[in-house]
Amino acid sequence: MNPTFPRPAALNRPSRWRQLIQWLFLLWILWLGWRFGQFVGHFTSQGATAFVPRPAGVDGFLPIGGLASLKLWLLRGEIDPSHPAALVLLLTFLAMSLLAKKSFCSWLCPVGTLSEGAWKLGRKLLGRNWRMWRWLDIPLRGLKYALLGFFVKILLLDMPSFAIASFLQSPYWAISDVKMLRFFTAPSSLTLTVVGVATLLSLVYQNFWCRYLCPYGALLGLFSLLSPFKIRRERHSCTSCQRCSAACPALLPVHRLDTVMSVECTGCLTCVDSCPHGSLRMGTLIERKPLPRWVFPLLVLVLYSGGVSLGMVSGHWHSSLEYSDYLRLIPLADRIGH
Ligand code: SF4
Ligand code: SF4
Repeated sequence: MNPTFPRPAALNRPSRWRQLIQWLFLLWILWLGWRFGQFVGHFTSQGATAFVPRPAGVDGFLPIGGLASLKLWLLRGEIDPSHPAALVLLLTFLAMSLLAKKSFCSWLCPVGTLSEGAWKLGRKLLGRNWRMWRWLDIPLRGLKYALLGFFVKILLLDMPSFAIASFLQSPYWAISDVKMLRFFTAPSSLTLTVVGVATLLSLVYQNFWCRYLCPYGALLGLFSLLSPFKIRRERHSCTSCQRCSAACPALLPVHRLDTVMSVECTGCLTCVDSCPHGSLRMGTLIERKPLPRWVFPLLVLVLYSGGVSLGMVSGHWHSSLEYSDYLRLIPLADRIGH
């Protein structure tokens, strides 16, 4: 007889892996921000502080420019050389959504991680999270699509390709990353007010920002409709206890669905962990057999690291801007675009 070894409980709970990955990724993003701050500091201090290479990953914070870059690439086959990682990361997250649902939102996005931390903290402090009134929830959910529609109309539909190319060659775009850093390190009173209100609402309502306001999540959600991976429920073992629906951060009625097709499902696997009878699994639309629990987390990591590696090896990761460009532009950052 083969000896059996108890497996650590966390290995059977893929949403625990997700939380670990989320927080490690957030720490890594903070480290990138710190390094980028040192990079900018070298130029603003006129060389008084040591030079630090620019971490290209900060381009992930330029999704609107990434969208403009996408249009240029689709129309002319040209990849913007100033912030190529913005396009690489956008394409990576779109590919992740096409194959592995909105996994970027619940596994990697630092705003999603903070948002999740906020409602969990709110639940601890207030004893519960509130649900938005249904009559308000539906129109509010439309807000993120309205914002997405606005950006798509302005950038993808209205702006001619020469205007996009001219924007991507402008000094404004060249130092948009520096402006983004200032947005975080020297926020205006309007920014502080918006972030403060969003934080308070995030303590009370689960994923307030992601559910109602994030146009990036809206875009990824639309792509995720094509993902072959879906949460599937086995009717024969399900007792309709509704624990899955109560646990779902996207507030989906999982206990009533055979297959979760919603654009709001982020593939967080919380419902899978919450089911006492193992009736829920991430599976594919093609193969009815449930996948081993490690497959989906591995897929998320492989897709992300694969997209970034492809950008790096193809030479579309680091900016073409040179030391002399930054030396000229960074001290002017506050004046460019005003
Ligand atoms: S938690 Fe499991 S058993 Fe309970 S309703 Fe959901 S799928 Fe069915
Ligand atoms: S249905 Fe499951 S995987 Fe999808 S968002 Fe809800 S808890 Fe997460």
